[in-house]
Amino acid sequence: MTLDTLNPVSPRRGKCADMHLWRPYTQMKTAPDALPVVSAEGVRLTLADGRELIDGVSSWWTVCHGYRHPHIMTAVKDQLDRLPHVMLGGLTHDPGERLAQRLAELAPGELNHVFFCESGSVSVEIAMKMAVQSWLNRGVKGRTRFVCFRGGYHGDTIATMSVCDPEEGMHALFAGSLPQQIVADLPEDEVSAARFEALLDAHADEIAGIVTEPLVQGAGGMKFHSPQTLQRIRAACDARGLPLILDEIMTGFGRLGTMFACEKAGVVPDIMTVSKALTGGTLPLAAAIASREMFGHFWSDDAGAALMHGPTYMGNPAACAAANASLDLFEGEPRLEQVAAIEAAYERFLPQARDIPGVVDVRWQGAVGVIEMKGLPGLDRLKADFVEAGIWVRPFNKIVYLMPPYVISAEDLEALISATIGVTRTWAGRHFAPR
Ligand SMILES: *Cc1c(COP(=O)(O)O)cnc(C)c1O
Repeated sequence: MTLDTLNPVSPRRGKCADMHLWRPYTQMKTAPDALPVVSAEGVRLTLADGRELIDGVSSWWTVCHGYRHPHIMTAVKDQLDRLPHVMLGGLTHDPGERLAQRLAELAPGELNHVFFCESGSVSVEIAMKMAVQSWLNRGVKGRTRFVCFRGGYHGDTIATMSVCDPEEGMHALFAGSLPQQIVADLPEDEVSAARFEALLDAHADEIAGIVTEPLVQGAGGMKFHSPQTLQRIRAACDARGLPLILDEIMTGFGRLGTMFACEKAGVVPDIMTVSKALTGGTLPLAAAIASREMFGHFWSDDAGAALMHGPTYMGNPAACAAANASLDLFEGEPRLEQVAAIEAAYERFLPQARDIPGVVDVRWQGAVGVIEMKGLPGLDRLKADFVEAGIWVRPFNKIVYLMPPYVISAEDLEALISATIGVTRTWAGRHFAPR
């Protein structure tokens, strides 16, 4: 490979010529330039050239109240004026204490103990460490592996890559350097449930816990499973005393119509991870929320039994202030009703996508709308066509999906759905035979 073509004055590259900013999941040599965004308001991004785009993906699923909601802006500014940051080792602060208490009240069952960090991946790592150490603290050795599911996604760090889908996911490349986990198919019917149980029994003494996304596997391809599937997983955990980790990073905070997806199945995990919409897309924050029982495994006179984790920026006060303000908005504004309205609009308009050439499936749940294709050839062109149509939609894998901010107006939502279907139809016509 040569860097000869990394020409700092390449006319095509414009301001990005020097490539100092290395972008996510991006082939820097061939990818189109990133679009510079200068401001945002409500559901709209404003580009440097003055164009406005309706954000159909809520900035990677975070901006649930729309951009720059005044209540969150004020709360963060006030917090910055008083205490932007302080370490949590030996010290504490009101926004963090309050947020932990509110999350404990909001989370189902006895999920009462909140461990903060800065990113979703790290919250899953912490949940995994909790599960492993909970066995060690009870004097049980050898329980170091996790059961995870095909189609799952839990993050980009080493341990979380190991519990992502091993083949279809983005991380197959790294297989050789990851811990070997136990990958199962979701127990979606009697046959797969029996296989799942047999797998658990075959590895009975090595399993530290089971980790899954509840009801929707997001970045693995927006695959849906039933509440019964989740109930089967919970029952299998209960029968064996295994902790269940539910990763609600994508589904949490109303995405599927209830505050947390597991509520739809009446399932309570032993550890729940949250991030993404936690601060309403304002500042990075995540948490692993443990049950009373899980916390109890660390509650001891032995200092060595303490949970051995502590991120530097843990529980950043400004981020906690944003999250507290976001929770105020869930209490004071009709967010879950807005999600129900988005779902109703999908039900009304998304079926129109079913006869697009190359479409395999059209589905929706809560604020998540999905058009699954046979494939996405000419993906860069499709993305550019969405921008041309005034919408920000980011297809991946074989999926064109929508996850707009919950506050989107009926008018903007209809425009977003219809532009998504129209652009996809035109693009698909160039790549797939008519249905
Ligand atoms: C986004 C996501 C993560 C990773 O969160 P980061 O903040 O990107 O590290 C983990 N699990 C699920 C379900 C996610 O959607």
